[in-house]
Amino acid sequence: MKKIDEPRLRDIVGERNIKTDPSDLYIYGSDSSVHHAMPWAVVKPETILQVQRIMKYANEELIPVIARGGGSGMCGQTVPVQGGIILDMKGMNKILEINLEDVYCRVEPGVIDDDLNLALKQYGVFYPPTPASSRIATIGGEIANNASGVRSVKYGATRDAVLGMKVVLPDGELVSLGAHTRVEASGYQLHKLMVGSEGTLGVVVEAILSFVPIPEFRCMGVANFDSLNDAGHAIGSIMASGAIPSMLELVDSVAIKAVNKTMDLGLKEVAAALIFEADGMVKEAVDYEINKMKKICEKHNGQDIHASYDPKEREKIFMGRKKLFPALSKYDDNLASTALADDMAVPYSKMAEMAGKIHEIARENNIVMTAYGHCGSGCMHTKILMDTKRKDQWDSAKKAITQVYEYVRSVNGTTSAEHGIGLSKAESFKIEKADSLGLLTSIKKALDPNNILNPGKLMQAPENWITATNLRYSVNS
Ligand SMILES: Cc1cc2nc3c(=O)[nH]c(=O)nc-3n(C[C@H](O)[C@H](O)[C@H](O)COP(=O)(O)OP(=O)(O)OC[C@H]3O[C@@H](n4cnc5c(N)ncnc54)[C@H](O)[C@@H]3O)c2cc1C
Repeated sequence: MKKIDEPRLRDIVGERNIKTDPSDLYIYGSDSSVHHAMPWAVVKPETILQVQRIMKYANEELIPVIARGGGSGMCGQTVPVQGGIILDMKGMNKILEINLEDVYCRVEPGVIDDDLNLALKQYGVFYPPTPASSRIATIGGEIANNASGVRSVKYGATRDAVLGMKVVLPDGELVSLGAHTRVEASGYQLHKLMVGSEGTLGVVVEAILSFVPIPEFRCMGVANFDSLNDAGHAIGSIMASGAIPSMLELVDSVAIKAVNKTMDLGLKEVAAALIFEADGMVKEAVDYEINKMKKICEKHNGQDIHASYDPKEREKIFMGRKKLFPALSKYDDNLASTALADDMAVPYSKMAEMAGKIHEIARENNIVMTAYGHCGSGCMHTKILMDTKRKDQWDSAKKAITQVYEYVRSVNGTTSAEHGIGLSKAESFKIEKADSLGLLTSIKKALDPNNILNPGKLMQAPENWITATNLRYSVNS
């Protein structure tokens, strides 16, 4: 561990914005993943200039810097595996401009997604990539992860909404990337390179984001299925039909059971349910889309199919999906919900097979796994529910993860749809991107020659993360 020059950092950010107490450091050592490691200091800048000065210091002293937003990342992206400074970006949380004429807003990176949408709502517009974690996730974290959410099937992921940004490079230089315009063909699109770079190439200090009108009409429907396979085929058929859902979500039997255990929703315990939605400015157009989706669900043996425009009814339909993540932790008192191989994307035609495969792999390895997700955009989530104290459960989980990713790669899917790579998914990422790893490493070297930004992640993550990196759980041998 290197000695941090606390007086120098205090001089940059002020007394109240630096933490070195072990109990504070412990909290900043983990995110929503299974990993933990202690940082050396937490520093909370409030201006771009402060970020520049911190980076200059860290670069001179070769100290790792890990930018952190809400800490809701699920793969250990903010876990400081090589120690260093956690740069808490939540101190930069101003909405700088909402430009209705040119249809963009300019924000600091620590703005919470829900806060941005609350501010936009008064103008009748919204920022669509919104992940399920929008109450805690920051715009900077969403950019660095290319976050997406339930409405990305129609409106796209973060990548599609980012027009430009200001970035502080590892040596403290400030650069403006992208533009304020909807299209740009002026050379390399470096702002897009920053999207999904997980804090390894630069620190995003300002973002220019597009927004869209809030639709006048929203209609949400649900269909139950006795077979996960039928539900999976319904997803593929809806997407191939040319229908334009504004949401298409799958929940399987494990997920439904978990929700019923924790909430009084009385969901029918079927093999799977699809939640679908259409939105727009013209009711007839929304009716058209919803009816199309209903018919496809019917064709694939969907039951209890109904849809509603009523906000209360919509809220009721969606509540189970919305509360799924915390509910999964209650599925069994002895089992924790872990984000391991948790957010793959596969081609639509493989959705049904993928959902079935997850259950098959769970059975084979004697662990509990769920299949759910923003399936309309090709994203399939799983959580592995396991007793994290038991070594044999980790061994089974490891086998299951390997099998899941082998399947995903075999059908031209990808390791992560939206949660990113960090540590947890690096092994599969490196296999998937084998022929471009050299190129990815060259890009990292060009932008961060001293390797101080979030080192040990993505291409640099250790081969066997389960044994090679700190788990936040103590495991009995
Ligand atoms: C309950 C729950 C539900 C979730 N649902 C979704 C979902 O629906 N869709 C989805 O996409 N994700 C989801 N996630 C994952 C996570 O919330 C998202 O990836 C989110 O974008 C992370 O934002 P954050 O501010 O918490 O980032 P953090 O976890 O703090 O950081 C994530 C990454 O961003 C980098 N970073 C943060 N700020 C900056 C910056 N200013 N400059 C450069 N790099 C930066 C970090 O270094 C790190 O690599 C969920 C997580 C939870 C816990």
